[in-house]
Amino acid sequence: AVDKIRAAGLLRTRGLIGGQWVDAYDGKTTEVQNPATGEVLANVACMGNRETADAITSANTTFYTWSKLTASERSKALRKWHDLLMSHKEELALLMTLEQGKPMKEALGEVNYGASFIEFFAEEAKRVYGDIIPPTLADRRLLVLKQPIGVVGAITPWNFPLAMITRKVGPALACGCTVVVKPSEFTPLTALAAADLALQAGIPAGALNVVMGNAPEIGGELMQSTQVRKITFTGSTAVGKKLMAGSANTVKKVSLELGGNAPCIVFDDADIDVAVKGSLAAKFRNSGQTCVCANRILVQEGIYEKFASAFVKAVQSLQVGNGLEESTSQGPLINEAAVEKGANIMLGGKRHSLGMSFYEPTVVGNVSNDMLLFREEVFGPVAPLIPFKTEEEAIHLANDTNAGLAAYMFTKSIARSWRVSEALEYGLVGVNEGLISTEVAPFGGVKQSGLGREGSKYGMDDYLEIKYVCMGNL
Ligand code: ADP
Repeated sequence: AVDKIRAAGLLRTRGLIGGQWVDAYDGKTTEVQNPATGEVLANVACMGNRETADAITSANTTFYTWSKLTASERSKALRKWHDLLMSHKEELALLMTLEQGKPMKEALGEVNYGASFIEFFAEEAKRVYGDIIPPTLADRRLLVLKQPIGVVGAITPWNFPLAMITRKVGPALACGCTVVVKPSEFTPLTALAAADLALQAGIPAGALNVVMGNAPEIGGELMQSTQVRKITFTGSTAVGKKLMAGSANTVKKVSLELGGNAPCIVFDDADIDVAVKGSLAAKFRNSGQTCVCANRILVQEGIYEKFASAFVKAVQSLQVGNGLEESTSQGPLINEAAVEKGANIMLGGKRHSLGMSFYEPTVVGNVSNDMLLFREEVFGPVAPLIPFKTEEEAIHLANDTNAGLAAYMFTKSIARSWRVSEALEYGLVGVNEGLISTEVAPFGGVKQSGLGREGSKYGMDDYLEIKYVCMGNL
């Protein structure tokens, strides 16, 4: 399968600095493995401080030309990149399944989703409007300009190898910023293939750079640089906090998409089929490895038994296997370290007979808020069911966490959906729907789930500075 990617010219193993594909300066490489088989897919450059410094310099130089283009010129290049991503959909999806493990169907979905950010922000590029403010003195005119912030450092995770990059790089380039991307060490190949297509699309050398390897070194270099004006990160809360602290010294703008602990509340008045289907999708997408995955399924007592048995039945129908096989709905976890222990098991609860990092889709009943399973983000195919009595109790349990990214609820009552949506301390809420992410809506968390929003018209703000110009003595 790797040969298919190679034949398409998309198997890139070196970093991208100033439009050149470069090896690590000391020649070091690291292996990229297929989590379903353990096969080594490629050896990629393992970079550090020095390569990152050069990538920053190149991004900084290019900023002065890229940001001076018209919005329409930047838009055209982005549009072309989108078209190339879409015309290489099969190869990109295959590459993603090989290095990340997700089923081909989900991988194809991610290429569409990832490319949609480039298309959307190609359009938004043309809509960076300023303001004219009525003055307080007759001989003055007050203007507001929006300008690109400068060089952006983007650090991304492995669970969405393409989309987490495009939803940062799309708005950044659209605004006129230039970028140094550091993809996850587990999934650099998709990132490099996408960058190759960006070059082919006419995104200029130096506008998009990719370095990978030693994460603390690369992150450290990005943080200490005065040329890097913004850090945007998706990943664990622990690393996000480090990056925020590390950005303090140079007072960078910071956007963070961190861990969630999503509640999925099933009320007595829910449509049971919709609730089972929606919570299944919210929980088991990408084998539970997304930050918006339902982490705690709260079920009202009147519907608990009925929901639990229908849910267990639905989970039993999930097919675990290599993502390349048509029948697979659950791929492996990203690596063996991700395989967790469970308790009070209704279904599953152990490694799958396929071995490697395959884990059985698991349902755990009667979980309560003093258990670790309630407190921590599982990031795997384990669904805890938590019984509750009243709406107030459900809201209290749902908000009883430091995280605040996605929340879901199932109810037929319009009044309740308003009440509960407003009471939930979360950045996104799905009502009777388990899959809600789209490029046209804002994505981001409150509390310790993060800062800033990605996607939608709001996604541009994170890459823009506001400048006030006062023209006096007119
Ligand atoms: P996940 O659990 O999703 O892998 P991580 O936060 O560990 O989350 O990883 C997300 C990204 O952050 C990856 O690209 C990883 O290499 C990077 N990363 C990890 N540690 C650091 C660090 N100290 N500085 C900068 N980036 C880091």
